[in-house]
Amino acid sequence: MTVTRRSLLAVLAVGAVGTLAGCTTSGGPDASTAPPAPIRTRPRPSAPPPPHPLEPPPAAPAPAPAPAQVAARHANTRAGAWGTSLPGIRSSLHVPFEPDGRPRVAWTFDACGGSGGDGVDHALLDGLRGAGVPATLFLNARWVERHPALTSELAAEPLFVLANHGTRHLPLSVDGADAYGIRGTTSVDEAVAEVWGNHELLAGVTGAPPRYFRSGTAHYDDVSVQIVHDLGELPIGFTVNGDGGATYDAATVHAEFMSAGPGDIVIAHLNQPGSGTAQGAIRAATDLRAHGVSLVHLDL
Ligand SMILES: [Zn+2]
Repeated sequence: MTVTRRSLLAVLAVGAVGTLAGCTTSGGPDASTAPPAPIRTRPRPSAPPPPHPLEPPPAAPAPAPAPAQVAARHANTRAGAWGTSLPGIRSSLHVPFEPDGRPRVAWTFDACGGSGGDGVDHALLDGLRGAGVPATLFLNARWVERHPALTSELAAEPLFVLANHGTRHLPLSVDGADAYGIRGTTSVDEAVAEVWGNHELLAGVTGAPPRYFRSGTAHYDDVSVQIVHDLGELPIGFTVNGDGGATYDAATVHAEFMSAGPGDIVIAHLNQPGSGTAQGAIRAATDLRAHGVSLVHLDL
């Protein structure tokens, strides 16, 4: 079925709003259960907004304590909140405009790994290279282990920043909360291991520890958000759902990418060749730039 923006707006008008942002199975997106695409309606700022009180300007990262220390610090702490946009999750850029006034937008692509999720969208990667679009690539440990040479190659390209998409691709929880039917990590120790396992793997492959983390499904509880910070990474969310877990056709991907405004972080996927992601995104790169948008790396 071709989903048009008009039909999506019609769905929105009757109150059926769904979000399929991250990967919905342990292995990758599940097109068969895709709810309608989200339509973002928040107003665009006409001038640079003040910093969000919960997101102070970035400071120089402090050395991360050992994982065992972090786990001990949060032992017996109970979660009080769950979702994709909790305080402490960075979902937009601190600097939404270039000095010359152009909106800044960051594109991120997840590689979820596992059965059905370990593909490589070479059309997307080549399209980003051809258009010179910087992108932050969130790689799961299973995908890295499946593609070690490609991971090293990507790490060497200045156009790409590699980031941590978890070890087992689980929602990050201290009590087994679930997202899209996927049970999250069930304890503080498991949450720490979900972050740290792939942290060490990526550091070993690329020579540099990852700075950014996004959990499988992009869900966290409040304790887990703090765990990611304590381990020296930043939990990253999103503001624009670019490809609906790689389920959207190219026209819908293009429309979603085109909806990005000042400071937005777009989430999409690089592990589903044959999806509409590559065609829609690369066309949007040309069109967004024609509208004066500056495409940038995450720089939180
Ligand atoms: Zn994923």
